[in-house]
Amino acid sequence: MNEQISAASLYDRVARVIPKAEWMGFQDDVEAILELKRKRNAVILAHNYQTPEIFHGVADIVGDSLALARKAMEVEADVIVLAGVHFMAETAKLLNPGKTVLIPDMAAGCSLADSITPEDIALLRKAYPGVPVVTYVNTSAAVKAASDICCTSGNARQVVESLGVPRVLMLPDEYLAKNVAMETNVELIAWRGHCEVHELFTADDIRELRESHPGVIVLAHPECPPEVVEAADFSGSTAVMSDYVGRERPARVVLLTECSMSDNVAVHHPDVEFIRPCNLCPHMKRITLGNIRTALEENRHEVTVDQAIAAAARRAVERMLEV
Ligand code: SF4
Repeated sequence: MNEQISAASLYDRVARVIPKAEWMGFQDDVEAILELKRKRNAVILAHNYQTPEIFHGVADIVGDSLALARKAMEVEADVIVLAGVHFMAETAKLLNPGKTVLIPDMAAGCSLADSITPEDIALLRKAYPGVPVVTYVNTSAAVKAASDICCTSGNARQVVESLGVPRVLMLPDEYLAKNVAMETNVELIAWRGHCEVHELFTADDIRELRESHPGVIVLAHPECPPEVVEAADFSGSTAVMSDYVGRERPARVVLLTECSMSDNVAVHHPDVEFIRPCNLCPHMKRITLGNIRTALEENRHEVTVDQAIAAAARRAVERMLEV
């Protein structure tokens, strides 16, 4: 929690990744947001892909989307501001129905979440009768509601195997499904959704990185294409990558995921050299200190989920949490 900390003293946390002159431009918004949080009894949840001035400057809870929503269930706050994309705000609302959930920019979407609709799932169920539907948490509440159970990139294999069936529809990330298929005997039927950030990485990128940065350890997110995951040294969710760096302390590392992740992890590991090929998520980058401040000042944009959809979507998420 940052409640008793001033913007000026916060600079020490981010000095390695934000030039002082740039931070001076953030200070006014940071001070205002810290004050607004106190006034409104609000917490800010920031995804790992948020920029360091948000992640280390004003956030109370940080992590991947599911960790954010789960941790928010433990705090006594009236208002949650989700510094992330829309499906994450919906998930926070599903798990915290009594709290006001705000997203600073309603247009913060996601190529994966946008790749599939409940109608697509209805068609798939007709084409594959009786085959259970597992959906990645990077989906809308309506899509979660149309599925049997959710999964994250960290628990996908366990979720699929927990169903005890030979075939599963695993939606909507084609690459995540193919990467998980390499680790399990369950047959996975994939959809054609891709993350527009992770699909850009190639196995050639890894070859070039190894040549230009000898000894580099390559960590790839499972939303990357299978040939990228195969060429990497290790694959895992953002939380797992962060844990890996803390545990193994590689001298030199590259995280094949969204740009800001390296900045945010690097803050805690001054002894590790981070190589930073940069693929930005344009949706995540719609969130700024300025619109977080406005969200708290003007109570916008409130995220709501239809009650029937929320109940079904919550069941799919809670079923996953029981695995
Ligand atoms: S990084 Fe990819 S999966 Fe994450 S919000 Fe952006 S488009 Fe969606």
